[in-house]
Amino acid sequence: MREKIAIFWFRRDLRLDDNSALAAALKSGLPVLPVFIFDPNILEKLKLKDDRRITFIYKTLTHLAETLKNRGGTLRIFHGRPADVYARLFDEYDIAAVFCNEDYEPYARDRDTAITKLCQTRGAEFIALKDHVIFAPHEVLKDDGTPYNVFTPYSRRWLERFEHSLPAYVPTLPAGRFAGAAQNAGYPTLGDLGFTENSFEIPQIGVADALIENYAATRDIPGIRGTSRLGLHLRFGTISIRALALRARALSAKFLAELIWREFYQMIIWYYPQTTKEAFRAQYRKLRWPGSETDFKKWAAAETGYPLVDAGIRELVETGFMHNRVRMVVASFLTKHLLCDWRWGEHFFAQHLLDFELASNVGGWQWSAGIGVDAAPYFRIFNPAEQQKRYDAEGEYVKRWLASDDDFFGTPQREPMIDHRFARERCLRFFMGATSGK
Ligand SMILES: Cc1cc2nc3c(=O)[nH]c(=O)nc-3n(C[C@H](O)[C@H](O)[C@H](O)COP(=O)(O)OP(=O)(O)OC[C@H]3O[C@@H](n4cnc5c(N)ncnc54)[C@H](O)[C@@H]3O)c2cc1C
Repeated sequence: MREKIAIFWFRRDLRLDDNSALAAALKSGLPVLPVFIFDPNILEKLKLKDDRRITFIYKTLTHLAETLKNRGGTLRIFHGRPADVYARLFDEYDIAAVFCNEDYEPYARDRDTAITKLCQTRGAEFIALKDHVIFAPHEVLKDDGTPYNVFTPYSRRWLERFEHSLPAYVPTLPAGRFAGAAQNAGYPTLGDLGFTENSFEIPQIGVADALIENYAATRDIPGIRGTSRLGLHLRFGTISIRALALRARALSAKFLAELIWREFYQMIIWYYPQTTKEAFRAQYRKLRWPGSETDFKKWAAAETGYPLVDAGIRELVETGFMHNRVRMVVASFLTKHLLCDWRWGEHFFAQHLLDFELASNVGGWQWSAGIGVDAAPYFRIFNPAEQQKRYDAEGEYVKRWLASDDDFFGTPQREPMIDHRFARERCLRFFMGATSGK
């Protein structure tokens, strides 16, 4: 008779320390088989062959496999649709339970529902635990049990709960044992997955403490390294949110507040999954954005003639990162100056951002367009030249990303593609017309 085993399914939690479901699987007493699935439903949406995120995941898995091997475990890596992979796993092993960590994105929810059903038909348990957030969406609600739609009261309640019972960070794996693989099928190569390696510089976790300490003073200046660059690690779980939130509590309330924004958007995507496709605010759902594809292409090619906007796009395309201040200006420019559909920008960011996180990206874009939760009113329209003067006064940031013969402060080499005053007034008319039903 085959030995009963537990599967631990790695998804957005690519680490061994403080991993809720991995720890639970080991504690179950069953031998644990860790698996990862490269899912074509996700990979097929990626347009860049040398997508940095795939290189990052691949390298992280290679490292995890090595570490697990030293602890007597075998990581199995598959390339296939999850339902097909699980059908195969159920044939190969006697699976008593599948452990994984919760994922609140719409696709992940559908996928997990399908795998839960498959487990039921095969007599196995499907156990999903909270891991990548301090509080799951249903844990921070209003008194009447409904979700918050506004950040400030949400964050107040979040902090109360956090202080009331601080999370524990558990650095070591509990005792338990791993299953020996029935066969060592070998790993798919990046080429098998349809990708090539990208030699980008992976942001290091270790340097974050000093940055977090000075965060409030440095976070808004794009010309310096004033933020943590941990987005990627939070996205793929290569850092524990509990470890980070406890550091933030000790070092910077402002930084902790940003982690709360992240959870706020995770909560929103859970309760309002349709907002990945349409405006949160009902009055803007039927809005027809008149901005042209030609204008969108200029924006995406860093040819707006506004140095801060163009520098932001270049930073994004060349490195996969864009500073938060610049993200706000760039997104505001596309939606409010050019009146282009926010979803075009959201998709563009999704293709390029190393730290792409659906909930935060949609939240950031809807905030910038003035159509989302806690929306910046549409009449608050960033002036890109003023923003540059205020946050990049010496031009350190724009000079880094734009060709040296561009003139940043006098007459730009490239004429601005649209006059700010004109764009501002046009935007106001557009939104007023939209909200008055004209
Ligand atoms: C249009 C737009 C799109 C965005 N898209 C994304 C995205 O796809 N993924 C993403 O993680 N963030 C997104 N943000 C939020 C923010 O810009 C990034 O989290 C931040 O710039 C990442 O850099 P960092 O890791 O150095 O952040 P830090 O400033 O060091 O912050 C630490 C962490 O807090 C979280 N965080 C910080 N600010 C926010 C915020 N406003 N909303 C939600 N979480 C936040 C992130 O996980 C971040 O890594 C977007 C913002 C805008 C305006």
